[in-house]
Amino acid sequence: MQKKLSDLLGKEVVNATLKAALLIFVSEISIMALLDALNISHSNLRDLLDASLLVIITSPSFYFLIVRPYINAVELARQNEIALRDKEEQLRFVLKGSELGFWDWNIATNEVQRNERWAEMLGYSYGELKNTTKQWTDFIYPDDREKAWKSINDVLVGKAQSHKAEYRMLHKDGGFRWILDQANVIQRSPDGRPIRMSGTHTDITEIKRSEEIIRENSVRLKSILDNLFAYVALLDTRGVVLEVNKAPLERAGIRREDVIGQYFYDAPWWKYDSKVRAQLMEAIKAASHGKATRYDVVVKMGDDYLPIDFQIAPFFDNSGQVIGLLPTAVDITDRKHLEEELNRQAHLDYLTGLPNRRSFIEQGEVELSRTQRYKTSLSILMLDIDSFKQINDAYGHQAGDLVLKKLAMIFQEVLRSIDITGRLGGEEFAVILPETGIEKATEVAERLREVISATEVALPVGHPIHFTVSIGIAAIHEKNAKIESLLNDADKALYRAKETGRNRVCT
Ligand code: GH3
Ligand code: MG
Ligand code: MG
Repeated sequence: MQKKLSDLLGKEVVNATLKAALLIFVSEISIMALLDALNISHSNLRDLLDASLLVIITSPSFYFLIVRPYINAVELARQNEIALRDKEEQLRFVLKGSELGFWDWNIATNEVQRNERWAEMLGYSYGELKNTTKQWTDFIYPDDREKAWKSINDVLVGKAQSHKAEYRMLHKDGGFRWILDQANVIQRSPDGRPIRMSGTHTDITEIKRSEEIIRENSVRLKSILDNLFAYVALLDTRGVVLEVNKAPLERAGIRREDVIGQYFYDAPWWKYDSKVRAQLMEAIKAASHGKATRYDVVVKMGDDYLPIDFQIAPFFDNSGQVIGLLPTAVDITDRKHLEEELNRQAHLDYLTGLPNRRSFIEQGEVELSRTQRYKTSLSILMLDIDSFKQINDAYGHQAGDLVLKKLAMIFQEVLRSIDITGRLGGEEFAVILPETGIEKATEVAERLREVISATEVALPVGHPIHFTVSIGIAAIHEKNAKIESLLNDADKALYRAKETGRNRVCT
């Protein structure tokens, strides 16, 4: 645009000059020809012609050497001025409509121009700002001054391309605002020294406050999670671990970075067993489809295997989309122990450790149905300690207990592992002898009776004591017999043993 204009101007001048010269030249030739024809002397005219020719020859040189460069220079200056004015106009327009504070620093004169918004951000009007002797530095929160100046200086000494710093500025209300300050050198001296720098201020107080809240919340959440004894993790919808709390890491002796970014089911807790891992994969799939799953499972924690109550639940965004999965677990070792203990107590006699009446009958029924299925034999012994009341009376209840325990130990020593013993109550015991007919059962009962009568029960004080038992035997005799009916039969035989003098075996 700039070049075209000067070219245009140049062409005009050349055209005019040439046209004028041509006109002079043609006119002179014509006049001289006319004077020749009329035979009139024209030496003065000749001089005029020479002068005209000189003008014709020198005028283009004059134009190219002097006129044209002058026109170009004037035009260039004019165009630059227009462009700069346009730019400033544009910038003013943009800044007016924006939330940006603007500053323009003439480094040489140390003058700073600012816009209205610059002042408003700090609670001042534009006029107030102009009249104050306060410098930029004075507005900066004292603790942040060094940081702000360093960023500017880095640009001035050429260490950085541009200035960008977040710092606090003092507000008229006595508080402060967080400002994002960004600037560039916009003019340099011919030797490259910065002579003008312009920048913008953005009020980022709200952003900073939100960041602070988010940071505080996440620190709070993390400390809650890390101090939970429960095991908690956070997964993306594919089951990749985003976060995990301290408890399961410390318990298993693994580092956070070993599991973050990995698939949850590949973590050491689950990976030890393909079934446990597959079950978890199913649960993750269900959760990613919005369905929570809860189950008890055993996980590997270092060298230990730990029962946990495990749940994996999805969590949703506002539109109901699943955006993550939340696995949680608690160690249920204690609960499992308690359950086992209760179970044991429900089935075992606390004193002798033998199955109680209910458990004995349950186990007996299982054995009995096997006997009936395979058509083999089975016998039951019913034992009752003789004159047990006297033992209690003579040596005390605790001595009686020692006798009961001793009897349980004798069963263990004398009987086979497939035989089932139980304490039916008081000093009454029963034994199921699978695959044993009445004759063999009588032999076993005799042996028991002999061993028992030969056994000494040591007491904490005084002499050891002896005791005897009476035993009644019954064998399976009908296809549909129940344990209870067999026990009845054995009880009758026992009664006979008691009747006929005790310390004996009856069938
Ligand atoms: P018998 O020869 O006719 O069987 O006479 P006995 O004295 O053994 O018979 P009885 O049924 O009269 O007595 C049973 C006694 O067993 C009564 C009860 O106090 C005692 N007893 C029951 N359970 C326990 C126990 O757990 N510990 C102790 N030390 N004694 C018990
Ligand atoms: Mg009794
Ligand atoms: Mg008795």
